[in-house]
Amino acid sequence: MSSSPPDPPGPVTPDPSGIRADALLRESSARIGREDAEPLLIHALGVDRAWLFAHATDPVAAAAAARVRALVERRAAGEPVAYLTGRRGFWTLDLEVTPDTLIPRPETELLVELALACIGRDAPARIADLGTGSGAIALALASERPASVVVATDVSEDTLAVAVRNAQAHALDNVWFRRGDWCQALGHDRFDLIASNPPYIADGDPHLARGDLRHEPGRALASGSDGLDAIRAIVQAAPGHLVPGGWLLLEHGLEQGAAIRALMQQAGMVEVATERDLEQRDRVTLGRMPP
Ligand code: GLN
Repeated sequence: MSSSPPDPPGPVTPDPSGIRADALLRESSARIGREDAEPLLIHALGVDRAWLFAHATDPVAAAAAARVRALVERRAAGEPVAYLTGRRGFWTLDLEVTPDTLIPRPETELLVELALACIGRDAPARIADLGTGSGAIALALASERPASVVVATDVSEDTLAVAVRNAQAHALDNVWFRRGDWCQALGHDRFDLIASNPPYIADGDPHLARGDLRHEPGRALASGSDGLDAIRAIVQAAPGHLVPGGWLLLEHGLEQGAAIRALMQQAGMVEVATERDLEQRDRVTLGRMPP
């Protein structure tokens, strides 16, 4: 596993003998596809997307072209684009990501939408995000609900450091960070809403050995023989950390909805339901404590 990528080197130094930016983009796209090539060029040249098109015919310095080609080869060998650029957009936020964090996924924005629907715009709610990773869910909720306080937890100190940097970068001062396992990190506190995108893939699932997942932290992806170990732990402990009427929202795999509804009902929760993502797959199950 490579360490985090270096900072972008700043604006391109023109070099009359260099390859043109558009030729470099074409060459890179032929190797790894346009969708991946573009963010790598933008990152390695230290430019924005508008520059790439406005300066398409500009020659690029040899050192900058070499940086692009090195990243393109790492992508061709399988490293995720988000780890090569160190960035990924989630909700309205541009986030730092590292190999210590899961790469935020668009389907997790459903969890954010559902959580926001549970919390009034100006309510001073207490919210927890368990296993926050880059901080994606916690920071999205904190930015949309500034009167609320969000506690973001993770078991890894290195991962929490990334989430803290993201909170600072977005000047979100209503987020607090605690290290620990699932609900244990919450101490004796109770919340109006607990959200989590925990690991939910079964140990040994062949998907873990494919594509970007190979490079992501295993503890953020896989959880026991049926993938439900973390979810069982969270659902069992959550009632002790929710106020009456408080909500629990969990992201999960497309075939886990019924099992998680049953777990929530066994834990005494009501209004239990599973919601589908944009691709019509079961993705989030929620329930609440009786009033
Ligand atoms: N949604 C991710 C995937 O299947 C898994 C993330 C998770 O386990 N929380 O790629």
